[in-house]
Amino acid sequence: MRRNLRQGYTCPPVSRRASVSRSSPAASAVEDRLRTSFARTTREKNRLPDSARLTKDEAAVLYHEADLFTLGALAHLARLALHPEGIVTYVADRNINYSNICICACRFCAFYRPPGHAEGYVLSREELDRKIRETMELGGTQILMQGGHHPDLPLSFYEDLIGWIRETYPAIHIHAFSPPEIIFFAEKEGLPVEEIIARLIRAGLHSIPGGGAEILVDRVRSQVSPNKCSVAQWLEVMEKAHSLNLKTTATMMFGHEEEDDERLDHLFAVRALQDSTGGFTAFIPWTFQPANTALDRRPETAQNYLRVLALSRLILDNVPSIQASWVTMGPQIAQLALFFGANDFGSLMIEENVVAAAGVSFRLSRAEIHSIIGKAGFTPRQRYMDYRLVEEQDTRT
Ligand code: SF4
Repeated sequence: MRRNLRQGYTCPPVSRRASVSRSSPAASAVEDRLRTSFARTTREKNRLPDSARLTKDEAAVLYHEADLFTLGALAHLARLALHPEGIVTYVADRNINYSNICICACRFCAFYRPPGHAEGYVLSREELDRKIRETMELGGTQILMQGGHHPDLPLSFYEDLIGWIRETYPAIHIHAFSPPEIIFFAEKEGLPVEEIIARLIRAGLHSIPGGGAEILVDRVRSQVSPNKCSVAQWLEVMEKAHSLNLKTTATMMFGHEEEDDERLDHLFAVRALQDSTGGFTAFIPWTFQPANTALDRRPETAQNYLRVLALSRLILDNVPSIQASWVTMGPQIAQLALFFGANDFGSLMIEENVVAAAGVSFRLSRAEIHSIIGKAGFTPRQRYMDYRLVEEQDTRT
């Protein structure tokens, strides 16, 4: 790590929290307890020992008073305890946004277009066919399919769409429809959430992405996405999906209207649901990108991203994987994230539209991802959504 740091990184801008250069006595006490717990850890069912579980008060102390690099080192210890194999995984997939037409008008969104807008679209089957074929030709194993809340498309449109993909491309994993979309379908059709998910599963859905979580605090949601699902509804979709044996991910988009402690509320809400269902495969914290949106904010600093990432690893002791976000932070900070709790490099992302609409357009080839992971001292391995490793790695992208 030290060699790579010397070679490649420049000093990011200083922030208030990053100026903490030594942990407070209260933070040091929590750090000592975690260090002792991790030293005794034997890997058991992707879960850290109970003695390493943080209370909300302890998490707040670490958040506000721990030295950034000590926090990162502890998160790395937790990551190594859960994933001692020296592997960093990634998935090869394509983000397909079936439509950008949306009636939600979230203030942080640069992607959507209101109904009737000249730039609004719904992808045709021909376009979808080309995108999925290309994805498979490039060694991709899955599509991540999400879209706006289109007022005129019935549930049968989505069932037909999934059914057609499943029939045409039986090998592709369909990771689709974030909780706000599922809630939108349920409200539009007047059907229970469980029935919507069950119908989509019957049509061919394999798993649900954790998008649309933003910050799981209704005060924040009412400010940034007042027309989208509530915290309880987001959690309900995930709880029902897990009860129907679907795996899902969870995300957190931070750096907009929320307070620091509301980020902790989000993390603890995910942890509580995972305690009861165990259905989250991974947690993906990423930073709000303000360009072209209705929110006048500066992007989060790299230090704040790494602090939240490390805290995520420490708080979410029951979520197996934490993803680095190279799409928003860039390859160098994502490489550094591998020493702040992340064990997964996210997606090769053959196509990405939502973050690109906010003016951020990092692109990485498979060879570059392998190089970044390898230079950090880990072995890169392509995986599926459920984190099984792909045996025959493709090298065409
Ligand atoms: S974030 Fe999703 S729900 Fe909100 S405006 Fe954008 S497309 Fe619509």
